[in-house]
Amino acid sequence: MPKNHKNTMMELIDALWFKRRDIISDGFDESLKYISKIIPLKIHKIPSGTKCWTWTVPEKWSVKEAYIEEVSGKRILDLNDHPLHVMSYSLPVNKIIGKKELLKHLRSRPDMPKAIPFEFKYYERDWGFCIQHEKLKELSKEKYKVFIDSKFEKGNLKVGDCTIRGKSKKTIVLVSHLCHPCQANDDLAGVSILVDLAKEISRRNNFYTYKFLFLPETIGSVAYLSGNEKIIPNLKYGIFLEMPGNNNNLTLQLSRQGNTKIDRIAKKIMQNKCPNLKIGGFREIVRNDEMVFNGPGVDIPMVSISRWPYSEYHTSGDSPKIISVEKMKEAKKTVLDILRAFENEISDKDYVPKRTFKGPVFLSGYGLWIDWRKNKKLNQNVEKIMLRLEGDKSVFDIADELNMDFKEVLEYVDKFFKKGLIKKI
Ligand SMILES: [Zn+2]
Repeated sequence: MPKNHKNTMMELIDALWFKRRDIISDGFDESLKYISKIIPLKIHKIPSGTKCWTWTVPEKWSVKEAYIEEVSGKRILDLNDHPLHVMSYSLPVNKIIGKKELLKHLRSRPDMPKAIPFEFKYYERDWGFCIQHEKLKELSKEKYKVFIDSKFEKGNLKVGDCTIRGKSKKTIVLVSHLCHPCQANDDLAGVSILVDLAKEISRRNNFYTYKFLFLPETIGSVAYLSGNEKIIPNLKYGIFLEMPGNNNNLTLQLSRQGNTKIDRIAKKIMQNKCPNLKIGGFREIVRNDEMVFNGPGVDIPMVSISRWPYSEYHTSGDSPKIISVEKMKEAKKTVLDILRAFENEISDKDYVPKRTFKGPVFLSGYGLWIDWRKNKKLNQNVEKIMLRLEGDKSVFDIADELNMDFKEVLEYVDKFFKKGLIKKI
């Protein structure tokens, strides 16, 4: 599908969408390589068979040839006509079977008779073909030859990681998945926007560190996080960007916590700028890798931005034809605005306070006492803030350590400044 796009996001989609990007596959690796020519990418490799928490990394899978033929040799379906014709991670098969058995191994979409569904069986061993529903009526014989020349072998699950270091180690992680053969919106569109964003963000001076991850869905997140547990405490917030290129309005799915800073900022930005915005709770709009990042034992607040649902999902209809450049740009700008809001809120206002006082400050004498009836949390943290004014932590760090709102701590520490109790360094 060579097209003359000027938009770099569409170029990436055109270049990669038709590849066989199964979760561990040559097509996936080639796609990561393509991205690594646009942005610097560290590639994490996790070998097949590796135990990752309760999961195990599957084998690499490839397929050379697959078809269904009548016994006479008349071909009914051929992998060469469309890569989706064979179920991803299908077992090899070479036999003559009855029509009844064949039908058990065929997947079609009665609601979309012209579409070839995208189907996979990563963890259960089975074989299967995917076929246009309207083609089923051509199956008039009693016996068929089924042939799939696929291979399972040891390989490496790969995760592309573009980390852009900011002043703080505190990291916002942005995730999209690069797997799914021949699917454009799910989720190459997300990948493409994040690649463009990474390029743009790397040219700025940032307060936060940004980590962009391009991975195979679910198992990629599990493999990456289980192998990098020590960095999890630095991953403060996350955005999962998926299916952002079709013509629907944007939707926002909140984090599991539902009211963290990323939820509040995303809500505020998107309510102002996105027409007819739909907002839903965790796992109520779309279900994906946020279950890993925001799930048990990890729990990084992660919102999910998408244009879900759309009818072409997981079918041959999910091609660049349904991707709108304008919608891609809108989604990119939305994420960028959210990140900017994070940056502006903190980077302009943050400073390192150093005390000039000795002994505990006489709070009520300086008008610094906080009534517990009015603000219990701040009241309980007043001394903890006072003990952190040694010139080695910024206001942001203090707020973060105490799990408090940055603005609230800033307002309070500013009062110390106005009374001459701290210097700004
Ligand atoms: Zn999908």
